[in-house]
Amino acid sequence: MDKFDVVIVGGGTAGLLLARELSKQKHKVLILDRKKNLLEFSFNTLGSFLNLEQFGLSHNVVAQDIDTIVLHSKRVKRSIKSDLYILDKKQVHVEILEGIDNNYATIKTGINIKEIQTDVKGNFIAVVDQKNEKYTGKLFVDASGTNGILSKKVGLIPKKTQLATGVEYNVRYLGNHSKMYLLIGKVYQGGYGWIFPLKNQRAIIGFGTFDEKIVKDLKNRLHKILELPQIKKLVLKDNDKVEGGSIPITPVLEKFICNNLVCVGDCVSQVNPIVGEGYKFIFEAAIMASKAIDSALKNDNLDFLKNYETDWKNRFLANYQRSKRAQERFFKYSQNSLLMDYVLLISKLYPDARAIRSLSGEYGLETHNK
Ligand SMILES: Cc1cc2nc3c(=O)[nH]c(=O)nc-3n(C[C@H](O)[C@H](O)[C@H](O)COP(=O)(O)OP(=O)(O)OC[C@H]3O[C@@H](n4cnc5c(N)ncnc54)[C@H](O)[C@@H]3O)c2cc1C
Repeated sequence: MDKFDVVIVGGGTAGLLLARELSKQKHKVLILDRKKNLLEFSFNTLGSFLNLEQFGLSHNVVAQDIDTIVLHSKRVKRSIKSDLYILDKKQVHVEILEGIDNNYATIKTGINIKEIQTDVKGNFIAVVDQKNEKYTGKLFVDASGTNGILSKKVGLIPKKTQLATGVEYNVRYLGNHSKMYLLIGKVYQGGYGWIFPLKNQRAIIGFGTFDEKIVKDLKNRLHKILELPQIKKLVLKDNDKVEGGSIPITPVLEKFICNNLVCVGDCVSQVNPIVGEGYKFIFEAAIMASKAIDSALKNDNLDFLKNYETDWKNRFLANYQRSKRAQERFFKYSQNSLLMDYVLLISKLYPDARAIRSLSGEYGLETHNK
């Protein structure tokens, strides 16, 4: 049986980016995913403030360039000038896969990991799949998304994790292609809605909520949003294909390591709380994890793994804590249309740059820029 340096459970956003980095560092990596096809997703587009170059991605991953975000409550609209992207999730993953060095990385699909085994000292020695097959390695990575198959077992995230859930339709778009919309307040069913324009007069319209009680009713609520006159002017539903999924909304976590197990991505709730943006934050975390793993393997010393947590805290902790507080306030305001109108009106007093820092979860830039 091959002995791998690193066994990664999950070939999604976090797992693939980490595998790309580790294979470049010439570590022998095994990626295991329960899916048969790594390029099939439950939803296909993403809004992102990602810097493509920073992560070695080309502009081909962009489904639509955006220059304006319109925040829309019941009676108030605020347009904010900002460059960002609607990304084609499949293209992003194609490019990451192309960047993986196959001399060092092996991908196995259709492997559903169920267990992790330890030796007498409590170090992890193998993950075990649905057919009881074992995969051994020096280090293990959980990148299994909201499933958190290993992060839950070792107690880094609660077994029952609170989730925000979203549903989406791909619809005809009648609006301006460089403007995306965020729909907030009770009139939009008390959660948050979004319209992401795509090319060819298409767009994604979605609705998501943090409220577990209304998750079962999400599709009906999105249908109600589609009936609103201001929305009918923008989009036209012409098919019934529903997309969607869930993101974790735990309190902010800061522990991602347990012995020789490293966790990255949604399995340890690294999606930013304020707008649910995962890609930018998870890519950065995966790069930090890859550097720490590289040092641990080169020095044969697990203590180097701690650099990942330290780097993450320095870069993200204060931002995430502020985003979490903003998320809680947002949840409260969104139950009341008048209050949300008022908050949006007040927000017009603040410059676009400040609004973007909040929306992109980059509060830290405020202090750096002072
Ligand atoms: C509806 C919706 C809209 C979103 N919109 C945005 C957005 O606009 N912008 C943005 O940046 N982010 C967005 N996100 C968040 C973003 O998609 C996630 O944060 C990100 O994809 C998480 O990456 P991950 O690698 O942690 O998990 P995933 O990408 O989910 O990958 C996990 C992988 O692990 C595999 N796996 C799971 N369990 C096992 C197991 N037991 N054994 C083997 N393999 C396993 C899965 O098959 C999967 O391939 C959205 C999420 C949702 C659900």
